[in-house]
Amino acid sequence: MERQCLMIPGPTPVPVGAALAGAQPMINHRGPEFGALLSEVTGSLARVLVTHGTVLVFPASGTGGMEASAVNLLSPGDKVLVAVAGEFGSRFAEILRVTGAQVSTIEVEWGTRVDPAAIRAALESDPAIRAVVVTHNETSTGVTMDLASIRRAIVREDVLFIVDAISSMGAIQLHQDEWGIDAVVGGSQKGLMTPPGLAMISLSPKAWDKVERTTRRSVYWDFMAARKFFERPTAQTPYTPAVSLLYSLRESLRMLESEGLENVYRRHRMLARAVRAGVRGIGLEPLAPDDCASSTVTAVKLPDGVDAKSLLSTLRKEYGVVIAGGQGSLSGRIIRIGHVGNVSWQEVVVSLSAIEMALAKLGRSVDRGASVAAAEEVFMARG
Ligand SMILES: *Cc1c(COP(=O)(O)O)cnc(C)c1O
Repeated sequence: MERQCLMIPGPTPVPVGAALAGAQPMINHRGPEFGALLSEVTGSLARVLVTHGTVLVFPASGTGGMEASAVNLLSPGDKVLVAVAGEFGSRFAEILRVTGAQVSTIEVEWGTRVDPAAIRAALESDPAIRAVVVTHNETSTGVTMDLASIRRAIVREDVLFIVDAISSMGAIQLHQDEWGIDAVVGGSQKGLMTPPGLAMISLSPKAWDKVERTTRRSVYWDFMAARKFFERPTAQTPYTPAVSLLYSLRESLRMLESEGLENVYRRHRMLARAVRAGVRGIGLEPLAPDDCASSTVTAVKLPDGVDAKSLLSTLRKEYGVVIAGGQGSLSGRIIRIGHVGNVSWQEVVVSLSAIEMALAKLGRSVDRGASVAAAEEVFMARG
């Protein structure tokens, strides 16, 4: 039997300890053990995001957290500016439209990052804009945005800064308070090394002011209710929480904090550099330029004549390596290698080796060993 090497940008491999933690006996979700569990998880998430704000956790995939933010932070008709640099920015724009906001977008060429000057100019030309929405790490293109610079471009105090950090939380540094981010949305199944099913939203005091004034349009996604229950003598949630996933998440967060968040971020940056060096070693080119390359996912352009579907299926069937394809307009034109969460140099070496062999099998001439050698240079230089 072949072991599978899961190298997609989410869901990511769950550490055994976190998986086992999820198998603990059920507890009363209105009792003291649950209160301690929820408080530890939200406290740890606040440390990950370097914030003094309140973190809420809902049972949902990340998209649920995006929709929850939309209905709590914006009233129908509110003007929002969304930076669309790929599939996930486009999804946030769609959610905002459907939930009643008046959406304008800044379209960024896929594979590049959002230019803060464009945000500044859009805000200057439309004083009615109430919020700016940015995807921290655009998983469809492998680009990470410069949130601190974007914040500096949002000069108006009355504008909320909302960030989709679903594919960066726990893997790429984000300083919520220092960078002035009002709402950060995360998901359990990427950098946080937990099975899919939890969305978290971290809110600034300014975001809470807005939540209090927004017309309430959802019973389930009600941030006010969530805060009220969280502030009970033993912390609770309004509706039945995903207890087992919270056990897993607590374990994963303990692992991240014991590795040290700085070390975790450094490990991801190293893996990204190794993947980029590796694919270049066999003549392939990453989609994103080096200065905005994601440390959690690398999109790699496919040369003419290489069929994405055949490559991905050869990787999976012959070598047990699972890599993602392109989304939207990049479908068929790129592959995406996830290197996020519970991943080390070992999986990167195996993946690069498998890519070499799969390309060779598909009839490309490949300088076999070259990608692994290039990655080794990166690993050995780390000291
Ligand atoms: C994964 C992801 C999401 C959410 O996807 P779900 O499938 O709903 O968890 C949103 N934004 C980004 C940037 C993502 O990578």
